[in-house]
Amino acid sequence: MNLLLHTCCAPCSVYCIKSLRQEKIAPTLFWYNPNIHPYSEYKARRDCLKEYAKLKEVDLILEDNYGLDEFVCELLSTAPNSSTDSNSNPDQNPKPNLNLNQTPPDPNGFRQLMLSRCQNYCYPKRLRKLFEYAKEHSFDTVSTTLLYSIYQQHDIIKDLMEHLSREYQIDFLYRDFREGWQEGQDESRAIGLYMQKYCGCVFSEEESMVGREIGRKLKKNNISPTNQNVRKVIESSKNNGHFNPKNISI
Ligand code: SF4
Repeated sequence: MNLLLHTCCAPCSVYCIKSLRQEKIAPTLFWYNPNIHPYSEYKARRDCLKEYAKLKEVDLILEDNYGLDEFVCELLSTAPNSSTDSNSNPDQNPKPNLNLNQTPPDPNGFRQLMLSRCQNYCYPKRLRKLFEYAKEHSFDTVSTTLLYSIYQQHDIIKDLMEHLSREYQIDFLYRDFREGWQEGQDESRAIGLYMQKYCGCVFSEEESMVGREIGRKLKKNNISPTNQNVRKVIESSKNNGHFNPKNISI
């Protein structure tokens, strides 16, 4: 098996590489993540992966493109334009179609559209590139470290990979790497890998930081800051389905 493994960062690759090697599979890592902002964060994650790949003696292919402009323009142009479209087909191939004469959506509407950004844009953008590269360079199998994260939309990623696998006629190696979540996290910390605090895009940065802020407030009010309690506060802070950090009350 000649496996190309889309790799979002070093910590997420630790358990994936380890468990694949236990199966006698030697993956080639593939870095393509134009969803990581700002540049300092992109660089920190990319450079950490380079170091880790060297340490583990695993091949790494870098599609090194920060790509902020393209990411934002395409994301804006491919976002669904109404809530009825929020379950768009995850197999869609994003196509840039930004009309600069268009009236931009109002900020509340825009944020509502952004709720589906992962499945409608970010996953297809990165994973389609994985298949394209694999096709051009004769890899027969692909997979992704996105299947390791307990914070990603696992089933949507799996469905998308299966669809792309049929389209490109390249095998998809499915593994539920989440079973090694704690092991991978512990090992990453032990060897001092750079540990990010949010998924990648500016929206996820806000969500993560606001979540931490809520956690601190809950603690101050003697409420356990569990993920569930944080989520409850976020849900109750929504107005017409849109979360606005300004509405938070505990
Ligand atoms: S939250 Fe993560 S997966 Fe979703 S759009 Fe942002 S970077 Fe991509």
